[in-house]
Amino acid sequence: MAFNYDRHIRHGKLPHIWCPGCTYGIVFKSLLRAVETMQIPKDHLALVSGIGCASRLPGYVDWNTLHTAHGRAIPFATGLKMARPDKRVLVVSGDGDATAIGGNHFIHACRRNIDITVIVMNNFIYGMTGGQHSPTTPVGHLATTMPFGNIDPTFNIPSLAQGAGATWVGRGTAYHVPVLDRLIIGAIEHKGLSVLEIINGCPTTHGRRNKFRTPTDMLLWMKESALPLSAFEKLPPDKVAGKFPTGVLYKREAPEFSETYFAMVERLQKQQEGGGG
Ligand code: SF4
Ligand code: MG
Repeated sequence: MAFNYDRHIRHGKLPHIWCPGCTYGIVFKSLLRAVETMQIPKDHLALVSGIGCASRLPGYVDWNTLHTAHGRAIPFATGLKMARPDKRVLVVSGDGDATAIGGNHFIHACRRNIDITVIVMNNFIYGMTGGQHSPTTPVGHLATTMPFGNIDPTFNIPSLAQGAGATWVGRGTAYHVPVLDRLIIGAIEHKGLSVLEIINGCPTTHGRRNKFRTPTDMLLWMKESALPLSAFEKLPPDKVAGKFPTGVLYKREAPEFSETYFAMVERLQKQQEGGGG
């Protein structure tokens, strides 16, 4: 199927800033295909980001977009959703932006179950600022702030989201593109807070410091390490190391925050009109 990427592009903003071999361009196109497949009118889409290489993405799309402060995409998106609940509000963020600087906002948005899609583009490093370790940098990996190998235990982003109360949690990779298209659609379709972690490769500040000789090596690592959840669950314990599950990892129904809020406002207004106090 031929997709009309062009109608989503904000002309005059390309070429993008991403390095050769960065996988963010793959995610960018996947996101455009997802919304094109869903036939969401451009004016119904609002895309919010914080700071970082992933957060440059909204600058390239001709939707309603906000490029905000580091770690603060979710609070901006929350305000936007409450002001315009008719919009499909999406956040794109990196691992540092979402789970370190914005970690508090992240967990509370999960708990609140507001209808926002949070896409966390996890490349295991702070890319834009030069390769500092983030909450997802694997133990032992080299970073500018961990020159002898990272000793900080890592966050598992889907587990963090589920534990904090997110009602839809998924994981995809930049290698498994058709699956990624479907996961983005599923995350947007879900009513409530959805968190989609997308495993990415940053060859410039992570890969080349950590024995990935080329950007292709990073994609091959994704190919070999990712397993659909059903296959991952069948692995014997001695085969789990180095693998991770992908797909929809968790899903449940729960009251959505903006609907609950506006129902409360309506109830209180009726009480007041009826003199109920
Ligand atoms: Fe991509 Fe890393 Fe370059 Fe940023 S620094 S554009 S994440 S490769
Ligand atoms: Mg990062």
